[in-house]
Amino acid sequence: MNESNLVGVNEINQFVYCPRRLYYIKFYDTIESNYYLVDGSLKHARASRRGGWVLEFYLRSEKLGLHGKIDVLEDGDVMTPVERKRGKSYYLNDEVQLAAYCMLLEEFIGEVINIGYIYLYGSKSRHPIHITPWHREQVLTITEAIRKMSLDSIPDFASNPNKCKKCSVVQYCMPLETKLLEAQK
Ligand code: SF4
Repeated sequence: MNESNLVGVNEINQFVYCPRRLYYIKFYDTIESNYYLVDGSLKHARASRRGGWVLEFYLRSEKLGLHGKIDVLEDGDVMTPVERKRGKSYYLNDEVQLAAYCMLLEEFIGEVINIGYIYLYGSKSRHPIHITPWHREQVLTITEAIRKMSLDSIPDFASNPNKCKKCSVVQYCMPLETKLLEAQK
């Protein structure tokens, strides 16, 4: 299985946020960045110049059908993935993404990893995330759902319209315009 057949862990995050968002990122040329993406990547770039950890540790697993780069890998008594996020809060999509990194890492080192951390730049706080069987099941189910995505099957709009306000593909998706047009039919 080559990289193009593997699901990227970052795709899991996008899918949990909104499957339709991942659809546009996967199948359309949506390289344009919005403030939230640019700001997050700049923060990553600044932090990458600091030492002390293994940064951007790449892992792949044919068994899981996944690949991705762990943002920061702490190598203490146990190896622990750390995912850094902008803002003052983390969400379910971030937890499931971290769970996927834990699953990749545990296959790589042959030890169970049931904890990872999310670091929030906005509050300069670090949060332990306990990886549960539910998280693991989500990773497997969503990976399979992403593998089945196709150009001719567009997912529905996000059930929470607040998500659209921060979405970088809103100009492709056009949720408000589409709903207005549908209402006129
Ligand atoms: S604009 Fe809203 S519905 Fe469309 S992809 Fe983004 S989050 Fe999903």
